[in-house]
Amino acid sequence: ERAAERGLRWHSYSSDEQDEASWRMSLLGELDGAIDSGQVWVAYQPKYDLKSGMVIGAEALVRWLHPERGAIRPDNFVPLAEESGRIGKLTRHVLDTALGDFATITSAVQRPVVAVNLSTTMLSAPNLVEMVCDALWRNGVLPEQLVLEVTESAAMTSDENALAVLERFRSMGIGISIDDYGTGQSTLNYLKRLPATELKIDQSFVRAIADSRSDEILVNSTIQLGHQLGMKVVAEGVETTDVLERLEAFGCDVVQGYLIGKPVPFNIFTRNYRPQITERAA
Ligand code: C2E
Ligand code: MG
Ligand code: MG
Ligand code: MG
Repeated sequence: ERAAERGLRWHSYSSDEQDEASWRMSLLGELDGAIDSGQVWVAYQPKYDLKSGMVIGAEALVRWLHPERGAIRPDNFVPLAEESGRIGKLTRHVLDTALGDFATITSAVQRPVVAVNLSTTMLSAPNLVEMVCDALWRNGVLPEQLVLEVTESAAMTSDENALAVLERFRSMGIGISIDDYGTGQSTLNYLKRLPATELKIDQSFVRAIADSRSDEILVNSTIQLGHQLGMKVVAEGVETTDVLERLEAFGCDVVQGYLIGKPVPFNIFTRNYRPQITERAA
């Protein structure tokens, strides 16, 4: 009987799993209110152009500062929002915040670009195009100032309809970036069909180029491939000058990473980079 008892216990949830499950459930119930009350905010990580030596914009990264649980990482609540149908509200909030913030950067030499991450599930949301257009108009930001980042796997699994949505954005002048490139399994044929303006090499490969010859070859040839396909190539997760120098030698266009700057609140971002962005302004 003891064995059976134990067997039963093995097949039921452990208290850790139960904690995890109820933690997820309660977070889910709190997300709506958290967005409305300002607990969900947006951090900006600079994108640095290697040729001009200037910060040309930022990636918007969502953050949740929970009053009891502290800072919750997007990896812990974005998937929850996706599963529960709250991702539309979250996406609208990030888009609106990011475009509202960037609309305040005036007199820039080149209008700074802001990149917003899009969940795979959003690509099949019927109101996505309307949501993006609406956010641009309301905040008075040009489509050329917005980049939408979709993961390689999202782009891969996307149906014809999702492809049409990306093409629609492209025709409006919005940039499309393929995020985490190298982690999915997109074929060259597929990559060729994507209306993307930017290829963003995943940080796992970027970090590895410092001590792996094969990763160096992979990253170098990916940069050349991106250029051949007419895309700008971005490397994410740049943490050392050694890696930065290699990327520069390979002709990489833009870098992002802790070496350049961590994701920070908008006021810190502008304090750090406004002089650069507006350097040559009249
Ligand atoms: P991602 O879009 O690939 O973003 C890059 C992640 O790497 C960010 O983590 C960033 O803070 C981190 N990172 C940047 N540079 C470095 C570096 O030099 N070293 C290290 N170790 N990490 C670096 P974060 O902010 O935790 O975001 C994780 C993921 O959550 C993002 O990956 C993105 O897929 C997702 N995410 C973030 N914000 C949003 C959002 O507003 N909407 C959606 N749908 N997803 C989001
Ligand atoms: Mg991204
Ligand atoms: Mg990425
Ligand atoms: Mg990622």
